[in-house]
Amino acid sequence: MSADPDRHVLILGGTTEARQLAGALAAAGTGPGPRPEPGPGPEVGAAAGAAGAAGTCPAGHVPLRVTTSLAGRVAAPVLPPGEVRIGGFGGAGGLAAWIAAHRVTHLVDATHPFAERMSFNAAAAASLSGVPLLALRRPGWSPGPGDDWHFADSLAEAALRLPGLGSRAFLTTGRTGLHTFAHLADTWFLVRSVDPPDAPVPPRLEVLLARGPFTLDGERELLARHRIDVLVTKDSGGCATAPKLTAAREAGVPVLVVRRPPVPEGVAEAQSLAAALEWLTGTPG
Ligand code: NAP
Repeated sequence: MSADPDRHVLILGGTTEARQLAGALAAAGTGPGPRPEPGPGPEVGAAAGAAGAAGTCPAGHVPLRVTTSLAGRVAAPVLPPGEVRIGGFGGAGGLAAWIAAHRVTHLVDATHPFAERMSFNAAAAASLSGVPLLALRRPGWSPGPGDDWHFADSLAEAALRLPGLGSRAFLTTGRTGLHTFAHLADTWFLVRSVDPPDAPVPPRLEVLLARGPFTLDGERELLARHRIDVLVTKDSGGCATAPKLTAAREAGVPVLVVRRPPVPEGVAEAQSLAAALEWLTGTPG
């Protein structure tokens, strides 16, 4: 996209796509160095070694300011290029105030497809501030030949359906919703998450602390070693498929898939980095 000194893109992040977008924007329009903040805020400053937060650009470079916002859920997040701020805004009103104070011209909601509250807040804040909003959502997954997929509309529905599908579950829906399964005393759980889960958790549980990407061989080995007979996942999407889904198909293990919440009504949607960059190029702030 063309660099414009008046452009400030706020990326609501926490995903690979958000990091990729920040990287592409940094590469497209800026030189290195911090840009002065217009006012106090919860920012933690520019990510180390990153190009993208301009203000001390060499002559001829026109700065495009890029800030990624992280919720602060993960203890040691992978930081994107550009400026980074961490922590909630205090609802849609807080986000709208941040947008105004930092002269944000474009808002990109690149949060995880299941970060429903933040997406709702983004839509409300964009409409309060009159700033254009794009939802960047990786495509979801679809079952292929040989898959035995079952669907639930929420984690609560998944917890209801789970005992009918298996008794040794590999739960990959994240630690924050684990309390939804806490009452299932007859199911043994292998839970994989980046940080340890908080109570309440199911009584029969093994926690595997790990951060992706994961390999097909690794997923095959996990399913076999723990005698997994059902896999639970959100339809997080991303690549055409995920190694855990392939491993489940190969092993004849049923998969319980939690469907995504919809993107808030009226919000423009892009499913790829290229489409997001195109939107940013063609959308005046
Ligand atoms: P959520 O339920 O939609 O949001 C809850 C609150 O967390 C929001 O109201 C907001 O607080 C704050 N928040 C969320 N994302 C934020 C961001 N990028 N920057 C600043 N504040 C943010 O979100 P969630 O499902 O807990 O997800 C939290 C983060 O983890 C998101 O950034 C998401 O991309 C990432 N993530 C989520 C999942 C998942 O399965 N949900 C998976 C992988 C990564 P205020 O109202 O105070 O602004």
